[in-house]
Amino acid sequence: MKRDTRVASLLLFMTCVSLALLTAWQTWSSRERTLRDVNTDMLNLTQALDSYTEGVIRQCEVLLLDLADRIESDGLGPLQLEHLQGLLGRQQKVLSQVLGISLFDARGRWLLVSSGNVPPGASSADRAFFIHHRDDPSRDIFIGPPIRGRSTGQWVITVSRRLDHPDGSFAGVVVATLSIENFLGLFGRLDIGRHGAMSLTRDNGQLLVRHPFREADMGRDLSDSPLFSDYLRHADSGSATTTSRFDGVERLYVFRRNDHYPLVTTVALSKEEVLQDWRTQAELNAGIALALLVVLGLTGQRLLVGIRRRTRVSRQLASAREDLLRANDQLRVLATQDALTGLANRRCFDETLATEARRCAREGAPLSLLLIDIDHFKRYNDSYGHQAGDDCLKVVAGLLGACVRRPGDLVARYGGEELAVILPSTDEAGAEAVARGFLQRLAAERLEHRESPFGVVTASLGLATAPARAAGGREWQLVNAADRALYRAKADGRNRLEVERLEG
Ligand code: GH3
Ligand code: MG
Ligand code: MG
Repeated sequence: MKRDTRVASLLLFMTCVSLALLTAWQTWSSRERTLRDVNTDMLNLTQALDSYTEGVIRQCEVLLLDLADRIESDGLGPLQLEHLQGLLGRQQKVLSQVLGISLFDARGRWLLVSSGNVPPGASSADRAFFIHHRDDPSRDIFIGPPIRGRSTGQWVITVSRRLDHPDGSFAGVVVATLSIENFLGLFGRLDIGRHGAMSLTRDNGQLLVRHPFREADMGRDLSDSPLFSDYLRHADSGSATTTSRFDGVERLYVFRRNDHYPLVTTVALSKEEVLQDWRTQAELNAGIALALLVVLGLTGQRLLVGIRRRTRVSRQLASAREDLLRANDQLRVLATQDALTGLANRRCFDETLATEARRCAREGAPLSLLLIDIDHFKRYNDSYGHQAGDDCLKVVAGLLGACVRRPGDLVARYGGEELAVILPSTDEAGAEAVARGFLQRLAAERLEHRESPFGVVTASLGLATAPARAAGGREWQLVNAADRALYRAKADGRNRLEVERLEG
């Protein structure tokens, strides 16, 4: 029962722990799944933005290549410039992403602009793209840092190409400007949450465009951020989780370096926002699990209390049953025992005699019966008192008990100062030996009896034996025969044994 309680407690504990672990595992795996799905979406978005930017830059590159070829072969005479002015205007109209196309000479003077209005005396000698092409003979395009356009006043990104004289010397720069508004318009149409961010950066870490837009961020150097100082050093694309230096928001970043141009596209989502739905679901799950645990715990507790109570009750029942059995045993003993001498009582004698008579008849064995009566016992009582008479009776009973050794034999108090011995499977000679043995012991004991002619306590014995197969149903004949023998012993002077044979 105690083991049952332990097993039930263990089972309850294991169930609760399993439920808690299962909920924790399910919550954790759903978080991982959410992050994985978001990461995949962000990778796709970054790839799309990168492709878009690459397409725009490539258009500019083709345009600038064509213009540079034309200028280098036709020269920059007044007629050519006039012709070019018309061409730039037409090309700019076709290329919606291009805000303007400008031409500068070797000293940075602004010669032409697609919109047609060259600010008087304007120079770009100080612009990064001009300085780059002047100092670098490479004919590749150059993507410059964001600047405020001098003709439009808007923030722009420049894509430029160097012009050479036939001798290879620096002849000027042709520049296409891309409106940052154009990129911001695209970024703004994509849903990346309230705290999401997207940016386009030169691969040296200089910021070109960032959504959400802040004037102060334009051209900001991010080269020492973890993205540029760490992640991009090891991979051209990937994802990371860092805290933004712009606004301190923890974000999931996905970045991609363009395969052809020195540009990096980044998409970042607020971790808080990404995990918001998951968190709500997780809190709901945790609440349900907690409620289940409480219900399970309370139910289990009640069950355990019930089991413990039943255990206690059944233990008490078992102990009561044992007490009852013990009491029954005692009762049985009391019912068959004589209180004074401790010998079997008359009831037990009667039952045993009947049983043994049947058994001996069945087994073909003889059955002997001895009746013993203490001589002049009335006088003993009168002389020594009733209490002393009781003690004497006990001593004589003890002596008689000591003479009978076989397990099947029964010594009983027949009534008053008369005792009896049932000797199953014992013939007359055997029973006579027992009787004489007792007489000798009693004589040897020399219990004083001053009112007896013998001076000591003596007894008269009557013995009767039923021969083999003759005892069945005749036990009372056996008793009467023994009684007759006893009567004879009394009549013949007492302190002796008389035998009466029961005929077969
Ligand atoms: P007899 O030799 O003829 O047997 O004489 P007796 O005195 O023994 O026989 P009787 O039947 O006249 O008296 C039996 C006495 O045994 C009567 C009674 O006082 C006494 N007695 C019987 N049972 C008990 C007992 O349990 N305790 C005591 N102390 N005396 C008993
Ligand atoms: Mg008597
Ligand atoms: Mg007597």
